[in-house]
Amino acid sequence: MICDNCKVREAEVYQAHSGKRLCRKCFMKDIRERVKKESLKIGLDKASKILLAVSGGKDSYVLADTLSSFIDSNKLIAYNITEGIQGYNRYEQIVQLKRYLSSLGIELIEDSFKQGVGHTLDEMMKYSRNKGLNVSACTFCGGFRRKLINNAGRTVSADYVATGHNLDDEVQAIIVNLIRGDIIRLIRFADKPIKLSSKFVLRVKPLRRVYEWETTLYAYYGGYQFQEVECPYISTKPTLRSKVRELLYTLEDKKPGALLSILDEFDKIAEKVRKQSELKEELPTCKICGEPTSYGREICKNCELLISSGLLDPHQNLPIS
Ligand SMILES: [Zn+2]
Ligand SMILES: [Zn+2]
Repeated sequence: MICDNCKVREAEVYQAHSGKRLCRKCFMKDIRERVKKESLKIGLDKASKILLAVSGGKDSYVLADTLSSFIDSNKLIAYNITEGIQGYNRYEQIVQLKRYLSSLGIELIEDSFKQGVGHTLDEMMKYSRNKGLNVSACTFCGGFRRKLINNAGRTVSADYVATGHNLDDEVQAIIVNLIRGDIIRLIRFADKPIKLSSKFVLRVKPLRRVYEWETTLYAYYGGYQFQEVECPYISTKPTLRSKVRELLYTLEDKKPGALLSILDEFDKIAEKVRKQSELKEELPTCKICGEPTSYGREICKNCELLISSGLLDPHQNLPIS
């Protein structure tokens, strides 16, 4: 079978959502073009500095590779957090990630929960379980990750923070927030970022129109040595999300391109809602750490988690070691 695009090389990939059979080269070109299109829409080409939030997983390799194909690499700086999960975080991984990024001319800033929060994720989980809290590791990890990434973006004066979320991640999150009725979070998922606090660096997702299977294949073709081990805390992940995930796979299977149409429709609706909404007001800041928190809160969710786990004394405002 010949490639539908170049009509020269042998086709290797069937792209169900476009109905095309592509050769390896045309497939990779298609991914880079889609990432570029999304990035230009956001205005990434005009940024003077972009912080890439990387993890060592396949999507971070794809993010660095595709962005550096049309953005000068000295405008890109990568940032990685070691969570501190026994048996999961490996030293070789950081070395490989660093080597790959440096081959693209991108510097890597290395950070960890231990350094930035004062405790590894394993420690946070141990303390919270001892206090009888039933908080998933993803809640700790997600919240502190967001906070540290935002801090890093501010420190390097980045115009944007780019994350490696793909189409599957994005649509799952939209449906989950829709079910939960979390409108503020929901409309922040749209294509154009909104800034609710002067302390926030705008977050963008250049891979949000690329299917997860496509980033996997791209990473495989690229020959990257990415983290393939699953996080040991994955079983404690919220079940609603896994149910939504299964549902979306069934839908995509029956109607290829369904995820892309959901995202397109969602972006249109979000744009209308945002125009009418009153989301102009600056978010309040946490009394303890000084970072932005949700409307109506005095202490942010992160500090609250540390306090309830016995890892932070609210009166002394100091980490307990
Ligand atoms: Zn081709
Ligand atoms: Zn706080």
